[in-house]
Amino acid sequence: MAPEMYLTSQGKRKLSQHNNVQPLVTLGELYAAVNRITLFVAFEETDAESEANYQQIIFTADNAAIFRLDCSRDNCTGGGFDFAPVIDTMMAENETMAHGRLACAGALSHAESSCSLQAEYRIIIH
Ligand SMILES: [Zn+2]
Repeated sequence: MAPEMYLTSQGKRKLSQHNNVQPLVTLGELYAAVNRITLFVAFEETDAESEANYQQIIFTADNAAIFRLDCSRDNCTGGGFDFAPVIDTMMAENETMAHGRLACAGALSHAESSCSLQAEYRIIIH
């Protein structure tokens, strides 16, 4: 016999926030009022020879609600940029536009330093 489940929707949400293995929640499920989120990111290269790296990502209601980008540096491990906290704050404060900077917390493999690549972002919630 299958065990009975007592998971409320509130309990489920708590679980997904504290679990690193993310369940595939869609954007529409996470934020019912949102149609689309546009994320524009410009990675700031400190190396003068490399070209600026821009990315524009559009999340629709059917997309998985994973707002994380990998670091653009090949030799960076454990890095990346997580925009979920920014979007969470925007939703909580009813903001539709936000911009700012995040720094990569990864480590560079053949240098004993942290990556700290800067990413300038702009987020628009539709
Ligand atoms: Zn990095």
